[in-house]
Amino acid sequence: MKVLIVDDSPEALAVAKVRLAKERVDIVCAGSGRDGLHAAKEENPDLVLLDLDMPDMTGFEVCRQLKSAPETCMIPIIFLTASESCEDKIKGLDFGAVDYVTKPFDAYELRARVRAALRTKHLQDLLVEYAQVDPLTGLANRRALMERMQQEWARIRRHDGSLAFVMIDIDHFKRVNDNYGHQVGDRVLCEVARAIARECRESDVPARYGGEEFGILVPDGNLESGAMLAERCRQSIVNIRVQSDDDDVRVTASFGVGDSSEANLSEEVIEQADEALYRAKHAGRNCVETSARGAIDHSVDAA
Ligand code: GH3
Ligand code: MG
Ligand code: MG
Repeated sequence: MKVLIVDDSPEALAVAKVRLAKERVDIVCAGSGRDGLHAAKEENPDLVLLDLDMPDMTGFEVCRQLKSAPETCMIPIIFLTASESCEDKIKGLDFGAVDYVTKPFDAYELRARVRAALRTKHLQDLLVEYAQVDPLTGLANRRALMERMQQEWARIRRHDGSLAFVMIDIDHFKRVNDNYGHQVGDRVLCEVARAIARECRESDVPARYGGEEFGILVPDGNLESGAMLAERCRQSIVNIRVQSDDDDVRVTASFGVGDSSEANLSEEVIEQADEALYRAKHAGRNCVETSARGAIDHSVDAA
């Protein structure tokens, strides 16, 4: 784990570094509040040891800024204070710090408090992971997908952007379980997840939506780019082989694509994709359908 020490005194930095040398942590130092804020964003530490009294910015202000930025708000902070003032300690804890250590440090106390804060941070990281990652496939779970969808929706509201959503459902998956057992079914789900993730770009968000359903959020996407991605995934899934005794288990999947161009709410994009998926199932499965708007447009063109 990584610890960032922010203190304007080179002496104090050196002492803290020596004190923590026996802990198995990487140490990064910053000599001012401003550098500390920068280092917290760049280095993503697991803990910040933060001096209260610095000339460019007080530790309280650094703490306030760290706690108000989404990328740093989860990093625990321990205040380093020369003051025995109860008021400062209370203020620091109320600003969101988890603990404080009074200078000059007792070597054993500093180390024990750092260890305690890092134990809690480790549990916090696990909680975040459990809340957002599907344990079977390692993809984002539905909760994480919905959060990203809301964020993207807010972004396109501000910047006049677009997004597409691809809904995926494995065809006749119940038969896989019935014929080969649940464990083979699980392996098929993992392979499908890998195939989908492989076809995605860095900015796309592939997720396990539920049971044997997957979803992909495509930032900046539209029906056309969403359908192209879906078609690549479809072909990739057709090529999957999962070994079960002497059989090669094969599956196909159906795809529905919606986009933001005519939606007023993010939920409407998902509804469009869901409705298109329903049509893909009825069209014989193993195919890609885009939202009804696309179909209606074509019929108008033809007329
Ligand atoms: P359709 O082509 O219409 O989608 O047919 P289907 O059989 O895929 O659809 P249905 O919804 O009837 O069945 C889905 C099956 O997915 C039933 C359920 O047992 C299975 N399933 C859901 N989650 C899991 C899982 O985590 N592991 C395994 N092995 N099976 C799962
Ligand atoms: Mg289903
Ligand atoms: Mg299915």
